[in-house]
Amino acid sequence: MSPQRIAVLGATGSIGGSALDVIARHPDRFRASVLAANTRVDELLDLCRRFHPEIAVIADPAGFHRLREGLRAAGLKTEPLAGPEALAEAAASDRCETVVAAIVGAAGMASTLAAARAGKRLLLANKESVVLAGALLVREAEAHAARIIPIDSEHNAIFQCLPADRALHDGVHRLLLTASGGPFRGWTRERLAGVTPEQACAHPNWTMGRKISVDSATLMNKGLEVIEAHWLFGLPPERIEVVVHPQSVVHSLVDYVDGSVLAQLGNPDMRTALACGLAWPERVSSGVAPLDLAAIARLDFEPPDRATFPCLDLAYAALRAGGTAPAILNAANEVAVSAFLQRRLGFLGIPALIAATLDAVPDSPADSLDVLQAADAEARRQASALITRFAN
Ligand code: NAD
Ligand code: MG
Repeated sequence: MSPQRIAVLGATGSIGGSALDVIARHPDRFRASVLAANTRVDELLDLCRRFHPEIAVIADPAGFHRLREGLRAAGLKTEPLAGPEALAEAAASDRCETVVAAIVGAAGMASTLAAARAGKRLLLANKESVVLAGALLVREAEAHAARIIPIDSEHNAIFQCLPADRALHDGVHRLLLTASGGPFRGWTRERLAGVTPEQACAHPNWTMGRKISVDSATLMNKGLEVIEAHWLFGLPPERIEVVVHPQSVVHSLVDYVDGSVLAQLGNPDMRTALACGLAWPERVSSGVAPLDLAAIARLDFEPPDRATFPCLDLAYAALRAGGTAPAILNAANEVAVSAFLQRRLGFLGIPALIAATLDAVPDSPADSLDVLQAADAEARRQASALITRFAN
């Protein structure tokens, strides 16, 4: 059997690196045939020298020349491509059967959707595209027989705990998403006012990209995940709950009507979810250490502090409002997090800016990608204009 050919979009990121680590452990089964990055040409070239992909894409067109010359100098046959459109082209091309969607933010939308439309096995880490256009993405995946395997650890856990046959999902009472609580669990609003990007990015359990690290610190990550769970598993918001679990060992749970609760456990290392997605329904080693429950000794659970971390309820409200509201929420959050990382906005300004943007941009029914993208653009414009009101 020839190896499964895999496109890793966001190859230079945290998830991309974990995916390539698992791929490299199983050269007989997996081959990285497409590698894509945003701006870091040198890192992409290093990966090309290591994995010899058929295609390398640099999203930033300014990097094309260096990429092409670097590939030539290394004597590689890899075809260089550049520009945002090339991401979607490569994802849909016949050079891959599987796409790891690991670009951060709404920038991953077009390539994620292209992979779904091309009927690929879609290992979905790029949660923002599900928040932005979940209904459309799931519909297109179904129409083109693309298998979505969630990579977000919570959704991957739920995917593993649910019966494969959708008809049997009637027996599900609710989904329980676990949240670590982030680096500021237990803090008061007063203490949060002065936190820095470095503090927010120092996650207690996971090493991740900066955007998702800030999202974890505000609890917006969990809010985005509630919306993601709604679209991936088809349950209404009132049957998707969040419980804080500081050890990040129980990755999420499915509560059935008969009182059975199934959970997936493991060390907090994204290679487990990636190995699961790459090999599904088989299992392959991932390099993750076996779980040592006696060493962990205890597992704690507590309710989220919704008053101190209002992003969670902002996300629930956007999901309930429906239409373009989740797209507006996501866009405002991306603007807010980026401003926070650039020290143009305080930590408490993040939920404030998102709430103000949701107030300023009217939501409407979302019947097409055009409508969603227009809402995304308008929310970014409004959020950018509103920043000064909340700047520190
Ligand atoms: P990261 O910042 O480490 O990496 C992001 C990757 O996306 C990089 O390779 C970068 O080159 C690429 N990228 C950024 N902007 C781009 C653009 N405009 N065009 C093309 N490529 C672009 O982020 P990450 O932590 O790996 O997260 C990636 C996605 O996976 C996010 O949606 C995140 O929410 C999700 N996720 C991450 C984790 C984790 O443990 N890191 C867990 C669950 C879900
Ligand atoms: Mg997660």
